[in-house]
Amino acid sequence: MPLVERLKFRFTKNYDAVPDVIAAAPGRVEFIGNHTDYNNGPVIGAAIDRYVFVALRRIEESVFRFSSGDSSYVAVEDPTQKLKGKRSWINYPLGVYDSLIRRGLKPSGGFELVVDSDVPMGAGLSSSAALELAVCQALCTVYGLGLSREEMALASREAENEFVGMPCGILDQGVSAMGTSGSLVYIDCRDMRFSTIPLGKNYSIWIFNTHKKHSLVESMYSERHNECFQAVDGLNGVGLRIQYLADISPADFQSAKSRLLGTLSNRAEHIVSEIERVNRVKHLLEGGRVSEAGQLLFESHASSRDLFENSVEELDYLVEILKSLPNVIGARLTGGGFGGAVMALTEDAFSPDYAESVASAYRGRFGQPPEVIQCRLSDGVRVVERIESTDTIEPALG
Ligand code: ADP
Ligand code: MG
Repeated sequence: MPLVERLKFRFTKNYDAVPDVIAAAPGRVEFIGNHTDYNNGPVIGAAIDRYVFVALRRIEESVFRFSSGDSSYVAVEDPTQKLKGKRSWINYPLGVYDSLIRRGLKPSGGFELVVDSDVPMGAGLSSSAALELAVCQALCTVYGLGLSREEMALASREAENEFVGMPCGILDQGVSAMGTSGSLVYIDCRDMRFSTIPLGKNYSIWIFNTHKKHSLVESMYSERHNECFQAVDGLNGVGLRIQYLADISPADFQSAKSRLLGTLSNRAEHIVSEIERVNRVKHLLEGGRVSEAGQLLFESHASSRDLFENSVEELDYLVEILKSLPNVIGARLTGGGFGGAVMALTEDAFSPDYAESVASAYRGRFGQPPEVIQCRLSDGVRVVERIESTDTIEPALG
């Protein structure tokens, strides 16, 4: 059964009613821009053809009901209370509701919601942002709140940062909101400006997810974060006036870097050069020079491996095999690193057989095959269907 039909079926089974609206939002891939966001630099992401779907209906009763997949619903009476344990996924929709109230949604009555999805959870494809955006779009539709896509991205990020308590950057929600079929999304984290970069439709993105995770991934991530800001302090100590690594040009960095300790110099060099690579990739793609942009994806990986030291043997291996295959334009680790996934940009001629050969070589070396996902560049958040309701609730305009 197609996902939307299954969603409607589950909605009716749970609530004995039809939804008012069905909304969808895609997962995303970090295309290039490794650890650049919190250094105030740019990042490029891709919205992919994997979606979280949400069916939602407003009700007069002041209760909120949530169900995901084929599970029965959980009823919540106080939407300001955070939930724990198995029900904690409900904090994502509650967080969105909370941030929309701050943007003009007048709470009245309650709602019933069902989620269904083909975005794998916790695989680095940002199922959490897709869930937030789909809920955000559904709520905006039924409450008549006319937020732009940018505003929906910001409201959803606020939900994740403040209600859920996960300090993610704007990449996840920005890309899930702003994606356009056949294009990448460029985000300038300095001023939260979004734009799209057309790539054309004859390309695929492949994800090779190792499911390996360094046991200290969280502390290593925050160690890298701290090292970047120690490098900023070090550079200010030799007369520069910068707040973020994005504030220094590659040329100025080259003249100043010998004044930093070796490790800090390497970390900062990765960030400064990665920011430059993101902007060069944008420029090259806008000029249709896709294969040159692909080389920069390989360079990004080498810089993560050698300077930022957030790669692992498994990711390096995948990138090396991909590099040797025809129709692979570029490949790099995607996401925070210390395990996780490799992303490859390929021509359409890169077939599932090639992907299978990568997976089996990897299995030969590491015992387990990676999970392989082929994706297309897709549209961002949207209303899939508005179903005329016989409901008597008036939309509460903000
Ligand atoms: P990622 O965003 O990389 O997939 P996260 O840990 O940030 O990983 O988000 C995953 C969490 O998002 C899940 O643990 C769950 O709480 C929530 N989530 C995502 N998709 C769904 C879904 N279809 N149904 C319920 N919860 C979901
Ligand atoms: Mg997430």
